[in-house]
Amino acid sequence: MFMGGSGELTDLNVIFLGTGGSIPTPKRGLSAIAIRRKNELLLFDCGEGTQRQMIQAGVGFHRKTKIFVTHMHGDHVLGLPGLLQTMSLLDRTKKLEIYGPQGIKAFVEAISQTVRFTLTFPVQVSEVEAGLVCEEKEYEVYATQSDHMDHSLAYALIEKPRPGRFNIEKAKELGVPEGPLWSKLQGGSSVKLPSGRIVKSEMVLGHPRPGRKIVYSGDTRQSENLVKLAENADMLIHEATFDDELMERAMEDGHSTPSMAAETAKKAGVKRLVLTHISARYKDAGLLLEQARKVFVNTELAEDFLRLELPLSEA
Ligand SMILES: [Zn+2]
Ligand SMILES: [Zn+2]
Repeated sequence: MFMGGSGELTDLNVIFLGTGGSIPTPKRGLSAIAIRRKNELLLFDCGEGTQRQMIQAGVGFHRKTKIFVTHMHGDHVLGLPGLLQTMSLLDRTKKLEIYGPQGIKAFVEAISQTVRFTLTFPVQVSEVEAGLVCEEKEYEVYATQSDHMDHSLAYALIEKPRPGRFNIEKAKELGVPEGPLWSKLQGGSSVKLPSGRIVKSEMVLGHPRPGRKIVYSGDTRQSENLVKLAENADMLIHEATFDDELMERAMEDGHSTPSMAAETAKKAGVKRLVLTHISARYKDAGLLLEQARKVFVNTELAEDFLRLELPLSEA
């Protein structure tokens, strides 16, 4: 269940920094989605003006950060020069990791070679394709080719399963004294009691609990690759540039309508869908939300600075 809670339950927030498609409007900045996970910031796309949205959202410039760029259209990548400069002016020292499709390396190199500022921190740029993009102790990020242009990617953040819940009653019953032995059992190791008895971790731990999965489409038409990537996701963030009446235009430009996004959500069996990358033509995007909900009820419409919590599932 997605119920709010404290501590461990609210260690993951999705903050929509820019939700407009192609051209910004007074209300919508260009594509950027921040995922705050524990002390880390994962930024998906970096449209122009992202740094200012980051200031307003209070996500910070100094924390451990990874940036994942979906494709090399300006509305997804032109925020990088300003962001790199501001981070340097603020004396960032931590390494910044940037992942993106072919072209991202040359772009970042061109920024540092032509724009006059001195980077104060290492930047590690990786050009990636479909497959595993990066692996950390607690999560992995995968990419798939989307249906927008050559080398356009969609990304999935997938947390690894967590150990099962520690059964305190059971541990006491088995005579395990509170303290270091409890930690060992929680970590999955067996322990030997002073009496000589061996207690295995599976005797006091419940089933492993699933991690969370968030998928971001980038710009795309409907795509089977994306359906696969989004399978059973807790949240699918999908572009819906044009409303259903403009389906042909969407197809021509490599974009989706709300119904197309909602069909992907339905096919993939996701828990919730959030629409973003809304064309500047819609002053009120309520129509887009309505169209999506006809196909997939659990749909929300992103606005700049919308913050969604994704607590851990207790199942
Ligand atoms: Zn775009
Ligand atoms: Zn694009």
